[in-house]
Amino acid sequence: MKGSITTFGMPTEIISGPGAHNRIPEFLVPGKNTLLVTDKGLADSDIVLKVTSVLNGAGFPVKVASDITPNPDEETVNRLTAYLKENSIFQVVALGGGSPLDAAKAACAMVTNEGPLEDYQWNNKPFTKPPLLLIAVPTTAGTGSEVTGVAVITSRNAKKGIKKREIFPEIAVIDPELMVSLPGFLTATTGMDALTHAVEAYVGKNTHPITDSLAVSAIRLIGGNLRKVVENGSDLQARENMAMASTLAGIAMDQAGLGIVHSLSGPVCSFMHLAHGLANAVLLPFGMEYNLSARYKRFAVIAELLGGDTGGMKEEDAAKLSLKLVHRLLDDIGLSGELEKVRQAFKERKDLHVFGESAADMFLIRNNPRPASAEECTELFSIIAGG
Ligand code: NAD
Repeated sequence: MKGSITTFGMPTEIISGPGAHNRIPEFLVPGKNTLLVTDKGLADSDIVLKVTSVLNGAGFPVKVASDITPNPDEETVNRLTAYLKENSIFQVVALGGGSPLDAAKAACAMVTNEGPLEDYQWNNKPFTKPPLLLIAVPTTAGTGSEVTGVAVITSRNAKKGIKKREIFPEIAVIDPELMVSLPGFLTATTGMDALTHAVEAYVGKNTHPITDSLAVSAIRLIGGNLRKVVENGSDLQARENMAMASTLAGIAMDQAGLGIVHSLSGPVCSFMHLAHGLANAVLLPFGMEYNLSARYKRFAVIAELLGGDTGGMKEEDAAKLSLKLVHRLLDDIGLSGELEKVRQAFKERKDLHVFGESAADMFLIRNNPRPASAEECTELFSIIAGG
């Protein structure tokens, strides 16, 4: 314990387990207009069909809005907000990965509070009225968005989170049955996103006994289950374990903060249009290596949690083992080739210093255990390029 006052607050009620989506109607208000928000990729899927059938069967004739772009931008949120107002929607079920969940989180708050969105996003204006009732149902494992007080929305050519208590969904329904259709590649990248959340929460400056225990459980679950779900997406037990890991990691990072990996991935996603999970996946071992000397003990624990045998090793060597294990994991889940592609793309760019400046500008970097200037971030991008 560091002897200072810390806080932990997570208001979302969590309902989880195989078939949990059948319980969504219990949390909706009868007789009120209900909207299901999802994305185009899922609009015609069995997942949407399953959830709409449950809702319709329980007397909630639900409309579906699927006009949500990946990495949702301001326009998407404004369009959804207008739709919610025009159709007098009282409650929302957000179904999908982090993109539809974040768009719904922001729009539900914007319906009841005066705009524009950028005031809340860039000027930290407080929400004065509670948002619409929101039930978040993740279909990736993942971002953990169902349990975070953040909605990440792209505007001014940057991904900028709106972080406020009102943004937490009221209910999170976590059902691994809704995740079995996630293809292997997306299973791998979103799973690495969850691992990045847990690692950054565990080694950051703002660690806390509660977030530590969540992060430790998440890392152990991911170490034991990510390979299994990539190899066999129908392994429901492994899907359930990954779903829980993602939620635990989401709570941990929301409360304890992130660090250099997410700071580096900001410009990589914005300028190279790489998916959030993929960017984090390939940058994670480099961010870990940068931080190693600041947190030997914790990286040695991470090595053990990922299944490494650290018995008899010096702490520094055990910490280094965690890097090897993450590289091995990337290899086993088929992402090493993606790292090579990113290396190649970095090699061809003349503007890595702009990436470095942008990374050092991210507020997330303030929680990193080792300070990182624009020059140091640029150097890190060059190291990756030089591979
Ligand atoms: P995503 O929501 O963009 O979805 C990626 C793709 O997966 C889409 O094409 C979608 O249709 C498909 N998909 C989702 N579930 C599926 C399933 N079960 N079967 C088949 N296909 C499925 O991806 P994501 O990685 O979940 O979310 C990324 C977004 O989340 C980014 O915008 C990121 O910034 C944000 N994010 C938010 C938080 C937060 O706390 N709010 C945290 C981390 C990331």
